[in-house]
Formats: sequence, C-alpha cells, structure tokens
Amino acid sequence: MERRDFIKKSTFFSIGGLLIPSLCLSSCRNELLFKDLKFNGKVIIIGAGAAGLYAGYILKSKGIDFQILEASSNYGGRIGKLSGFANFPLDTGAEWLHGKNSIAGELASRSGAKITLDNSDEKYWFKNQIVSSLPKDINAIFSREKNLPDISFKDFAIQEGFGNEYKNIVEGIAGDSGAAASRISAYWKIKEEENWISGDDDFKFEETYFDLIDSQIVSKIQNNIQLNTIVKKINYTDSTIEITDSFNNTFKADKVIITVPITILKSNAIEFIPSLPLDKTNAFSKIGMDAGMKVFLKFNNKFFDQNIIGGSTSASYSDESIGKLQDDNVLLAFIMGEQAEYLTSLGSDIEIKNALLQELDSMYNGQASASLISYYVQNWTTNPFIKGAYSYSTIGMGNAREISAQSINKKIYFAGEAMNLNGHHQTVHGAMETGYREVINILKDINK
Ligand SMILES: Cc1cc2nc3c(=O)[nH]c(=O)nc-3n(C[C@H](O)[C@H](O)[C@H](O)COP(=O)(O)OP(=O)(O)OC[C@H]3O[C@@H](n4cnc5c(N)ncnc54)[C@H](O)[C@@H]3O)c2cc1C
Repeated sequence: MERRDFIKKSTFFSIGGLLIPSLCLSSCRNELLFKDLKFNGKVIIIGAGAAGLYAGYILKSKGIDFQILEASSNYGGRIGKLSGFANFPLDTGAEWLHGKNSIAGELASRSGAKITLDNSDEKYWFKNQIVSSLPKDINAIFSREKNLPDISFKDFAIQEGFGNEYKNIVEGIAGDSGAAASRISAYWKIKEEENWISGDDDFKFEETYFDLIDSQIVSKIQNNIQLNTIVKKINYTDSTIEITDSFNNTFKADKVIITVPITILKSNAIEFIPSLPLDKTNAFSKIGMDAGMKVFLKFNNKFFDQNIIGGSTSASYSDESIGKLQDDNVLLAFIMGEQAEYLTSLGSDIEIKNALLQELDSMYNGQASASLISYYVQNWTTNPFIKGAYSYSTIGMGNAREISAQSINKKIYFAGEAMNLNGHHQTVHGAMETGYREVINILKDINK
C-alpha cells in the first residue's frame, strides 16, 4: 500500500540504502531444508494462519509428523476472502504483497499468480479539501538517517511542526502501522524495520492473498488441519506435551509451535503448565496490537479517488478495483487504532457504515449516500481468536520481540507475525518466516 511504502522507504533511507538481510531467503532456506536434519517425533502447531500453515508445509516437506489445531471454522487466520460482494474477490484481511523478495513473493511467482504493482494516486483530505499534495512534506520526518526519539509518532510529528492540522494525516501513517499515532514509538517503528528486505513496492493479487495460500500451501497439508479446536491448556511438565481443547479433548506432542496472535497470548486465553516465565509474559505485554477493521462500500458509480488519506473516521480509503480484472465500484475503508475502537463502540455494522458515509458525503458532496449499493464490515477486533489487527512497536518496547520469540525448554516454540525479528512483522510473509524459523529451531535442537 502506498502509505506503507513511504515508511519502508524511510527505513531504507535511515540505514543509508544498505540492506543487510538478517534472514537469508532462498539460498539459506534450501540449504537448511535439504540438510540432513531429522525428527521422528510429533509436532503440534496451534493456529492455522500464515505462520502455522507455513510451518506445517515445511514439516510436511521434511516428512515430519504434525497436526495443526485451529480454533475457528476456517484456516487462514488474518487472511480471508470475500466472494460475491463485488464482481471480483476481496481480501478481508491481508491484501498487499509487500515486496516480492520474500517467501510469499517466491510462492506468487512460482504459482504464476497474477499480481499488479499498486501505484495508485494518493490524495489527502486536508483542511476539508481533497488535495494532491501537502504544504509540508510529512514523509520526510520519518526518513532521517539519525535515530528518531523513543516518543510517540504523534509527539514526534508535533515536535517537527506537524501540529493539529496534520493530525489525521499522521493518524493515516500510524494507522498503516496498526495503531493510533499516540501509541506507536517513532524510534522502535523505524528501528524494527531496519532489516526489511522484501522490497519497497506493494502488489495486489488479481485473485486474493487467500487464494495464493490456499492453492500453494493448504492444498498440500489440508488433512493435517483440525478446525474448531480451541486450545485452552498446554502442559509441558513432562517430555510429552499435553494439549487440551475447550471440549476437554487432549492431544500429545513432542514439540509445540504456538502461532496465535499476541493479543491471545496477552489475554491468557491459553493456560500454560508450568506458567510461562515472567520475563516472557512481560515481553508479550510490551508488544502492541490494537483494534482494526476493513469496511467495503459498493457504489453505483465511481465518484471517489483511488486513495484518500486523512479522514477522521477512517484515516484511509482506497479503490479496491485496482489490480482486478473487473471494475465494480468498491471503496475500502482501512481503519486502525482509535478510529477502529470508536467505530466498534458504535455497536452495529449499520452504525459503522453510516459514520463512514457521513465522512465520505462531506468529502464528495453527498455522493456516497446517494450511490451506495451495499457494504460489508470485517471487524478483526471482535473476532475472538484474533482480537485486533497486527502487532506494532510500542514506546520503550526494547527487545520484547526477541524475548517473546525464544523457545521454552526445547518444547514450546513461538511463531506468528508478532514474533518476526526481521522487520517483517505485521505481514503475511513475516509470519511465514517465523513458521519456517521455528521448524528449523526444532530440528536444530533435536540434532544438537
Ligand atoms: C485488516 C488487516 C489488513 C492486513 N493487510 C496486510 C497486507 O496487506 N499485507 C500483509 O502482508 N499483511 C497484512 N496484514 C497482516 C497479516 O494478515 C498478518 O500479519 C498475518 O496474516 C498473521 O499471520 P499469523 O499466522 O501470525 O497469525 P493469524 O493469521 O492471526 O493466525 C493465528 C491463528 O491462531 C488461531 N487461534 C487463536 N487462538 C487459538 C486457540 N486458542 N487455539 C487454536 N487456534 C487459535 C486464530 O484463529 C488464527 O487462525 C493485515 C492484517 C489485517 C488484520
């Protein structure tokens, strides 16, 4: 997405264009995959999102016994597909391939999936007008070579002269990073993405991200996925780990890879016996993950621009037909952080739709209400197994991700986008990298 793009570019700037990969991609993956690492035990993976599915895919390729336990009735986690709403399929969660130099990029190219560079025009809702550019370049403040201070995005922007009139623009930038500007650390946001290597162009799938994962990964491991299985307890006292679900069914494993969202770990929805170490739970609490939703609005004409940043109800709107074969007039409201909290608090999808229409009407002289055909709200915050959008970098977070990602007693391994240490957190390919990493960690531990 364009908004994401300029943060990434700033990151590259901040390290003088020198991109040093901290996770080798194809070459290293092949080397490790085909190295003679063996394991005869059983691995249970908790969660069938990108991380869990990819971990399963790698285990399968190594001939290792595994099972994926998924709480919901679908696989994919924060990747989902909405068919039938428009004359093209929509991504209810992850949508953009953020750079091709990644596991997901490789999968896309191998599969022949059609992707389109998203170079849509960006405009701003600024001082109650739609403008093509802003008086002052706000992008530049996050593209410093020096370290930014460990204060909020919001305070840093104000300090740099982007006060109240830029408030919603700053929220738009922050929203793309998954939270309100007051909650994201300017320093850690940039610092954590220093190792970003997947590329700074964003691509859209002609089909959906879900189709890629479904056809390339799930098709190979479908029989190993058990849906509707809410893991409640993990007892790793003995060498065989016992997992209990909400119906009191038990499962036995030698190794467990946990891939649930950080919100689930923070909420203690899963009981660990013995309890997780305090430094681990403290580290979880320092990783942010706030509310997030996508709302699709279908209209009978295209009165809107390709991208608008700066709304106070939704900091970002974009044209969903970009990169698609068909051209229904679908506008996506991409809503994160406090704006998503506020809309969730309205209590119903109709209220959410009305609030967005009110804002769009003010931007486009009432055309939104006059031409609405239908709408669809995907609120990730109210999904009981997700409870938010994606992890973000908080003020003072330090090495919280590193501690969170450490395995326990060579039995319990942690994956998922929030556990990505290569700057690829918040993404599908970042989640996949962690699934891969933990399979390798298991194999390394066994073969030491
Ligand atoms: C609105 C939105 C837009 C996004 N846009 C993009 C984008 O354009 N590009 C991009 O790359 N990324 C995007 N992302 C981020 C991306 O979707 C995630 O980083 C990635 O999908 C996370 O994968 P994961 O495997 O770490 O976690 P998840 O996908 O959350 O998978 C975890 C799984 O664990 C399951 N689970 C939870 N609790 C339990 C339990 N107790 N027992 C068993 N199972 C459990 C959940 O149901 C879930 O299926 C977006 C995310 C959102 C929300």
